[in-house]
Amino acid sequence: MNRLANKHEQSDMKEYEQVRGQLIEMLEELDERLVKITDDVKHPDEPVSKDFEEQATQVENDQVLDYLGNAARIEIEQIRHAIARIDKGEYGTCELCGEAINPERLKAVPFTKMCIKCASRAGN
Ligand SMILES: [Zn+2]
Repeated sequence: MNRLANKHEQSDMKEYEQVRGQLIEMLEELDERLVKITDDVKHPDEPVSKDFEEQATQVENDQVLDYLGNAARIEIEQIRHAIARIDKGEYGTCELCGEAINPERLKAVPFTKMCIKCASRAGN
């Protein structure tokens, strides 16, 4: 990309508009995934086995599904938060130190609210 410096702000807005669309898509995907996970927990496909080992596996699967469900819920919260920040014009800056978040990091984790320094300090 080779844009003029005085077009910078405008192109940023467009970029975030794209990110916003991307985030909304992620949100829809996660919502679907969450519905599926919840369905799996309520109606397991396989009947409960009498075999102890398989029963243990079934419990483990439920825990994994629980974990996945929680992870999806957390991610949904983070994405909603990021969309709100785009709307407020705060997107792309760290919530803790106020520094600009590295664009590469934003691309990798579009719903992040912390710069890499603060994130590693916070332990995630
Ligand atoms: Zn920071």
